[in-house]
Amino acid sequence: MEHEASPALASIAVGTTIRDLLRNPPLDPVDMRILVAHVLDLSRIQLITRSEHALTTDEAMALRAALHRRMQGEPVAYIAGTREFYGLMFAVTPDVLIPRPETELLVDLALERLQPENHVLDLGTGSGAIAVSLAHTRPDINVTAVDISKAALTVAERNARHHAANVAFVHSDWYAALPGRRFDMIVANPPYIVEGDKHLSEGDLRFEPINALTDHADGLSALRNIVAGATPHLSADGWLLMEHGYDQAAAVRNLLATRGFSAVRSWKDLAGIERVSGGRLVNHFA
Ligand code: GLN
Repeated sequence: MEHEASPALASIAVGTTIRDLLRNPPLDPVDMRILVAHVLDLSRIQLITRSEHALTTDEAMALRAALHRRMQGEPVAYIAGTREFYGLMFAVTPDVLIPRPETELLVDLALERLQPENHVLDLGTGSGAIAVSLAHTRPDINVTAVDISKAALTVAERNARHHAANVAFVHSDWYAALPGRRFDMIVANPPYIVEGDKHLSEGDLRFEPINALTDHADGLSALRNIVAGATPHLSADGWLLMEHGYDQAAAVRNLLATRGFSAVRSWKDLAGIERVSGGRLVNHFA
């Protein structure tokens, strides 16, 4: 495919060096580095050590095609097919939400609370970013991850295999396929965007799986189902930790308190926004 029409892409010619490409990027410099590394199959370090490498005909064509897709709005993570999360590279496809840095807060909070050999459940695992990060960091714990999307589970299984993470995947609509199973902790980053929110028609979100983003309702219905169904799936003193939207913390704390959770609180992400809420189910067998 040729893109002579775009002046920004005309500079991507045979013989252009990596150094020149990165010095004068036609788009966001971080996106540019990711796409150049992807097309040339180089690591971030190799972009520097091989900066004098000059593009071949095939490379120039492939890079122009990738940049063209980005300029049409496609997320850089889907073009490259990868996104880094919790220091690990994850395969991502349009079947899964692109892992976000704010979700690393949920992983940190889970790791701070996990005891040796605990059993953890990740609801709506998507790419498996949360489940694989937990299992990779703590090989002693037992991680079960579910998703309603079989296509997502295929991506998550690939990521678990790639990182030698011991995660058991189950095709399930929230708790539906887990009757009688109890966990020491349940974590989830469910769809929580309100139906019709303008962000759904902007930027990367336009390309992401709609069912991973919105509940097609008030934004709280998935969170409500997760809290409502948690009790029979939690061990004594078990934790439930959920990511949610920027304005949902009070509502989620209220859902937890209403269902008898203790130590209910919210935690702020790096942007200072209450992004994760959770609590503990103490003595619920009594
Ligand atoms: N954090 C994502 C966003 O607002 C939404 C992810 C989700 O709904 N779980 O872009």
